[in-house]
Amino acid sequence: TSEGDDDGDDVLARRHRVLAEVQEHYYDTPPRIERGFREWLVDVDGRVLLDMVNNVASVGHAHPHVIAAGTRQMHLLNTNSRFHYRAITEYAERITATLPDELDTVFFVNSGSEATDLAIRLAMASTGRPDVVAMREAYHGWTYASDAVSTSIADNPNALATRPAWVHTVDAANSFRGRHRGEQAALYAPEAVAVIDELAASGRPPAGFICETFFGNAGGVALPDGYLQQVYAAVRRHGGVAIADEVQVGFGRLGHWFWGFHQQGAVPDVVAVAKSIGGGHPLGAVITTRAIADRYRTQGYFFSSTGGSPVSSAIGAAVLDVIQNEGLQENARVVGTHLKARLEELGQRHPIIGTVHGSGLYLGLEFVRDRETLEPATEETEAICTRLLELGVIMQPTGDFQNVLKIKPPLCIAEASVDAFVDALDRVLTTGW
Ligand code: PMP
Repeated sequence: TSEGDDDGDDVLARRHRVLAEVQEHYYDTPPRIERGFREWLVDVDGRVLLDMVNNVASVGHAHPHVIAAGTRQMHLLNTNSRFHYRAITEYAERITATLPDELDTVFFVNSGSEATDLAIRLAMASTGRPDVVAMREAYHGWTYASDAVSTSIADNPNALATRPAWVHTVDAANSFRGRHRGEQAALYAPEAVAVIDELAASGRPPAGFICETFFGNAGGVALPDGYLQQVYAAVRRHGGVAIADEVQVGFGRLGHWFWGFHQQGAVPDVVAVAKSIGGGHPLGAVITTRAIADRYRTQGYFFSSTGGSPVSSAIGAAVLDVIQNEGLQENARVVGTHLKARLEELGQRHPIIGTVHGSGLYLGLEFVRDRETLEPATEETEAICTRLLELGVIMQPTGDFQNVLKIKPPLCIAEASVDAFVDALDRVLTTGW
């Protein structure tokens, strides 16, 4: 318990009274967690929980190097990003060094929603056009523009029917449960290209196309081979901009690739990233070409008071230090590959496992009632998560049907910890939930 804290469970009731509802998909009786270290969380009863879901705490909870960097900078200076200081320049240089040469200009913001919102506005400003094409079943944020392109029915059952007129959508390119499965998934790209071509033919060529470069909202489903190359080419053919939402999947988590678009062998014009780059500190970035960034001025004025502040930049740089110096992308590849193999082995023994999606430490375990019909095991997934909590594992569902375990632990996770998770899951699936 934190010092002087004797109000017990009352904090939950007070939370419900004073805060807006934000955690529809969280536990009915959540543990109160006040501490964390590496991939572990500690609740107020002293229970240690394994955090299998926290991609925001990318380098692990309470990393000493990040704490030291943030503390040092707070002692020196924290102010808004309009001032001239070293940390923001150095951090921006280090981010662009991870990207293709043409993506050389950085905007700093405070969250993923702001990053995708700004990315959309950059596309609109640089083309002078209002229309945007987005992939369905996505989540890109809560701000006006990022919400407009978010059509995951898990977040809003009326999502498709209530989009503004400037939003146009293409099928979720899901090779497991989409309209086209397996080999047939190659059809998604030409269909998306046709949507873009038709918009252009009707006199409304889109400002841009936005999607996650690796389908995170569905549990980490790789897009079909060549998908982004074909769709990006189509949007560019008509003068539009390719936007990559890397908020969840970028920054080393996929193990084999630092950025999701690397997996596709395609290069976007605008990259939006957040979550993991701040290691829990509010930090987001949009990286684009100088030409696109300069065009933003034609429509507005960009300034974010605390986006890339001295403290945010110091923390961002420290997070990147840890990812690079501790080899966390490599850890994601090695431990993630081991974890995926173990989950696939579970799949041979438990028919509720439809498939295991993902790469590195962005995996999705999809539960189905029937492997032929793929009927989503939604209620079962929630019950399994609740049972896992009893066994000491934090895990949550994702996807439009909330039937996929979203497995995205801190990138520093040890092999022994993922083994503990698989053993707990095996026990739940064997003994019932
Ligand atoms: N894009 C994607 C793909 C996301 O998953 C999220 C958050 N879940 C966001 C954008 C929005 O990020 P934030 O919550 O930091 O605003």
